Amino acid sequence: MTRPAIVTVDDDPAVSRAVARDLRRRFGEQYQIIRAVSGDDGLHALREIKLRGGRVAVLLADYRMPQMNGIAFLEQAMDLFPNARRVLLTAYADTDAAIQAINVVDVDHYLLKPWDPPEEHLYPVIEALLEAWRAAGDREVADVKVVGHRWSTPSYKVRDFLARNLVPYRWFAADEPEGRRILDAAGHGPEAVPLVVTPDGHALAAPTQSEVAAAVGLSTVPERDFYDLVIIGGGPAGLGAAVYGASEGLRTVLVEKRATGGQAGQSSRIENYLGFPDGVSGAQLTERARRQANRFGAEVLTACPVVGMEVRGSGRVIRYAETGEISAHAVILATGVSYRPLTAPGVAELTGRGVYYGSAATEAAACRDTDVYIVGGANAAGQAAAYLARYARSVSILVRGDSLERSMSYYLIQQLAAIENVRVLTQTELVEAHGNGHLEELTLHDRKAGTRRTVPATYLFVFIGAEPHTEWLGDTIARDGRGFIYTGTDLLSGGARPPGWDRDRDPLYLECSVPGIFAAGDVRANSVKRVASAVGEGAMAVTLVHRYLEGN
Ligand SMILES: Cc1cc2nc3c(=O)[nH]c(=O)nc-3n(C[C@H](O)[C@H](O)[C@H](O)COP(=O)(O)OP(=O)(O)OC[C@H]3O[C@@H](n4cnc5c(N)ncnc54)[C@H](O)[C@@H]3O)c2cc1C
Repeated sequence: MTRPAIVTVDDDPAVSRAVARDLRRRFGEQYQIIRAVSGDDGLHALREIKLRGGRVAVLLADYRMPQMNGIAFLEQAMDLFPNARRVLLTAYADTDAAIQAINVVDVDHYLLKPWDPPEEHLYPVIEALLEAWRAAGDREVADVKVVGHRWSTPSYKVRDFLARNLVPYRWFAADEPEGRRILDAAGHGPEAVPLVVTPDGHALAAPTQSEVAAAVGLSTVPERDFYDLVIIGGGPAGLGAAVYGASEGLRTVLVEKRATGGQAGQSSRIENYLGFPDGVSGAQLTERARRQANRFGAEVLTACPVVGMEVRGSGRVIRYAETGEISAHAVILATGVSYRPLTAPGVAELTGRGVYYGSAATEAAACRDTDVYIVGGANAAGQAAAYLARYARSVSILVRGDSLERSMSYYLIQQLAAIENVRVLTQTELVEAHGNGHLEELTLHDRKAGTRRTVPATYLFVFIGAEPHTEWLGDTIARDGRGFIYTGTDLLSGGARPPGWDRDRDPLYLECSVPGIFAAGDVRANSVKRVASAVGEGAMAVTLVHRYLEGN
């Protein structure tokens, strides 16, 4: 923890040094003593402290200073640190003016210069002020700070990105006093949100995801041009492949569009993954996997979307983030799936403003005492309901079918039945979302009764129909009608190998329609949509990469 500051401002360097020296002697161990020679200088120092999340306990300013007098300085300093105690330093001749000023501005004390001996005139005053400041309870904020609007999509995306990467952050609403103070310290107005401030005080206004990633120390560009193996996608399949690839000596890079973890990273509790009898949060599981991959020497790039792929001789080249290229001997596609957008009117406009796709964990705390709705009947929806029920007043799961039995695991159905504030509305369809700036109401259609009703709702989480992330592949790789990637024997039509196949062997089990390119996890046609199978396929794909590299 950094020490809180005592800031002194005096334009006379000799006096300024003397104040700082006396303060340091008594308070230097517990407080940083910061000295400035003008009001502007002092405000600059205060802004830096604010951006770094530091604290200011006491401000001392000389009354008579040329550009900005002490009163004006203290007034502006209060905007940044309202709890800091304020002292005006005055010469005897200025006492009356100072007293008058104190009545106008909220100054705690004035001190006559010189204050010798400090033991009598300076220390008792500062000690009393420090005690008053400590009682006010200012806290250091050493984490990343995000200032934004609660119902804004870009602000949500930044928070979601940080949360998924397990970067601790503090959130400040732009229309609340501390949020305004941070914006002010960074020299920005409300139009600059989301504002991201790193622990060392570096402020980024409306940054891109890769700017945020770089600022918080996540890699976004590869260290070399050529690798043995490029893995695209950082969900369980990609992370599994990265751990096995790097541990088996392949020069491996994993390229992830957003944050590692994929869908699993959104899961509040995975209870059926081998070795975790009490369950594990998806974020924890995948963060450990990322560290494990790093430990074996795999490079992990985040906020780095892959946008194209081509074959150049024996090399496989991927294009990322518009202009970057990485070449490799082999590629594993592990880009997974995401939920299909709901088409009901109003949903698109309110997405990120109360409507979220598969992101219950990030928003859970904000759901406190609100009415939450979930669309979907699979395990992901059930887990989200169980988790959100801890915060929300009520959680309603909307299901089109007449029960959850066919789509959700038995253990989850039992769990939900035992939670008082969760209810399952079967044969119910969402037909419209309403809200001015953020979600306020939903219109539901009861298919059985044939009736409609509009209910108040603050949050809606959507978990329906998965779609594979393969649109960026163009025609390079054979896929089924829904876009899932064919591999192995699925590629053999009546025993014939895929068009353009140039090897005198059939495609290996997880190999795609181009030799040396493999697919693993949910993105693969006919895959089992589970964490364990994705991890297993990632590991298996690495074994097949070895076989491919050996010339088979
Ligand atoms: C909320 C929730 C709860 C779940 N709970 C369970 C459970 O309890 N048990 C269980 O077994 N399964 C569960 N599942 C399913 C499980 O999470 C998935 O089966 C698993 O994550 C699939 O892993 P994957 O690596 O194949 O794909 P994904 O997890 O979808 O990961 C794919 C990754 O690829 C990235 N990507 C996509 N396109 C690109 C691109 N162009 N460039 C770079 N990167 C790209 C994505 O950003 C993503 O990070 C749950 C799913 C959800 C959503």
